[in-house]
Amino acid sequence: MKIQVLGGHGGQARGFSTTSFLIDDILLMDAGAVAGALPIEDQCQIDHILISHCHLDHIKDLAFLCDNCFGLKPVPFQVHTHHTVKQIIFDHLLNDIIWPDFSKLPSVEKPTIKINGIEPEHTFRVGGFEITPVPVKHPLDAMGYIIEKDNVAILFTLDTGPTERIWELASKFRNLKAIFTEVSFPNSMQKVADMSDHHTPQTLAKEIAKMPKDIPIILTHLKPNYREQIMEEMKSYNLTRVRILEKDGQFFNF
Ligand SMILES: [Zn+2]
Ligand SMILES: [Zn+2]
Repeated sequence: MKIQVLGGHGGQARGFSTTSFLIDDILLMDAGAVAGALPIEDQCQIDHILISHCHLDHIKDLAFLCDNCFGLKPVPFQVHTHHTVKQIIFDHLLNDIIWPDFSKLPSVEKPTIKINGIEPEHTFRVGGFEITPVPVKHPLDAMGYIIEKDNVAILFTLDTGPTERIWELASKFRNLKAIFTEVSFPNSMQKVADMSDHHTPQTLAKEIAKMPKDIPIILTHLKPNYREQIMEEMKSYNLTRVRILEKDGQFFNF
């Protein structure tokens, strides 16, 4: 499985883009940074989009992706997300006020985007991938995803605070090759992290004990202005299988 990090940060600034991972060129995990990261012809090649939750840093480029590929795609982007998130996207983003409702454009019969409501823990198959969505600890029915193809499984928690169920399920995937998870704030901002359901280095260090053993862990979603501080704090936990995403644009092969 080839993973291209289009954006792997918890904020946007020069050199830092919000969450978007492109998998094998056709499956997009979150839409925080796709429109500015890929040529338009590559954007139009995307078939399926998984959305973890409704926060702007994970959905905003659905708007620009649809605009860029409008009229260029023979079939709509198929978005898969929790029913709650689907409703929020139509109520608050593609609502014909903030941005056009591209599920009716260019026409109801041939739309640019289709959003499918999915159920937690119901595995589904699209584009050669087997995908299991799992609830995590983050507002408004946020979900992480375990994605399998050709006997390789990759886990994305996306945004979450301390959680349980996804680690229980992960232990059943013998072919799990990597865990992409988050650390958003430094330890000094523990209160903010708790209130917003995110990790600091100290909560993450405890969380790692719940994760399947020996699987590489890649940390994303660092807030750009606290990146150096978080990296410094992470060193003191001496976690050998953990690495922090170096930069957006990075490729991984599993
Ligand atoms: Zn986020
Ligand atoms: Zn969030």
